[in-house]
Amino acid sequence: MPRTLFVFCFFCHFAFAQTIQQCKYRFDTYLNFRGSLNNRVQFTNDAIYILDEKGKKEIAVYANEIELFAKFLVNNPFSKQEQLIKFKGVKKLSKSKCDSIFDKITDKKKKNKYDNKLPLSGYRIAIDPGHTAVNLTEALIEQKFLYFRKDSINHPYDTIKIFESALAFNTAQLLQKMLEEQGAKVLLSRSQENYNSFNCTYSQWLSVHKTRVLDSLYNNKILPKLKYTKFIKDNDHDLFWDFFRDYDLNNRAKVMNDFYPHVSVVIHYNVDEKNEPWKQVTKKNFTMAFIGGAFTNDNLDKAENKVHFLRLLLTDELNQSEKLAALTVSNFNKNLSIPIASQFDASYLKDNCLLTKSPGVFSRNLNLCRTINSPLVYGESLYQDNETECDALMKTDITYKDLKTNDRLLNVAKSYYQAVFKFIKK
Ligand SMILES: [Zn+2]
Repeated sequence: MPRTLFVFCFFCHFAFAQTIQQCKYRFDTYLNFRGSLNNRVQFTNDAIYILDEKGKKEIAVYANEIELFAKFLVNNPFSKQEQLIKFKGVKKLSKSKCDSIFDKITDKKKKNKYDNKLPLSGYRIAIDPGHTAVNLTEALIEQKFLYFRKDSINHPYDTIKIFESALAFNTAQLLQKMLEEQGAKVLLSRSQENYNSFNCTYSQWLSVHKTRVLDSLYNNKILPKLKYTKFIKDNDHDLFWDFFRDYDLNNRAKVMNDFYPHVSVVIHYNVDEKNEPWKQVTKKNFTMAFIGGAFTNDNLDKAENKVHFLRLLLTDELNQSEKLAALTVSNFNKNLSIPIASQFDASYLKDNCLLTKSPGVFSRNLNLCRTINSPLVYGESLYQDNETECDALMKTDITYKDLKTNDRLLNVAKSYYQAVFKFIKK
């Protein structure tokens, strides 16, 4: 890099520098679940330390290294992030080492080149439509479906049959069309409503890929023998919950992160938890969204989680995610007329989440909230088992740009679209 350009970059990167105080604010606001990390993370005037289970300093990030680390973590794949943090440990990097790492960082988040004047041209948006099952065999394993007979003869459908994967995929397609029309480049983490991120159904994965994948993870010493033997013997249901679900989620994050998105949207549809086993309708309906954070002490025992934790602590992704999620929840509330959930409206909000200052936005350490490397919103727009929603969600009476859908899904997609648009344009 020519000297003059380097000096310019040096100053502009300091203009946006993250300070220890800003990191401490993120730690207190989003990351430290009810003081659980007090013995694992230490802030001093000039450094942030991550401690191991026994209280020994394991990783140190000094004040003058924060911006370098933030930039490195945002612009590199997970394997490189892991390498740098392992190499770093508690040592202080020399000025020349910092400069040489800094010089090698490529700005992967720069906008795509474009030749039109559409408002979202140059921006990349990744969408994960949650789940995968759209038939009863697979849905009985995944447990993300509603299937029951309604008790009233006044309803237009006597049987309610809804697969969350299909709702999420339809919404993702609608949102994709809306964003692409404004010039954005959009990536979906899976290509069909019944596919996972490996581009097949779970049943296909079992018959075609299972043995090869487990063998390879075992041979590469990623999977210990005990787990390998268990997984090989597991029935399809247990293997899904013991292994496949996280394996797929990690791959979804990888597919999305390789795209270096400016914004990520994770689409889910909720149910009333008190209505379990969901064989009848509920009168309740609430809207909410999750962002990353709410780490507990034992979350930091896993080496890979320390890398995600540091990224969330040192970069401003969580601050940005809160803004995006707040816009999304406010749109769900206005466009769909659904009340915004408070922490008292579901036990997981009270027990597993940290409240943010934005209504309906909660920090929760869900796999994708932790692993996606961009500002994100993990939306739970409505309760599928609500007495009016379940009928409305089963309809396919509207066509939007060749896609069959219904009024509710279209409004959910519009809400995400308006939030992403406003977030980027701000
Ligand atoms: Zn879901």
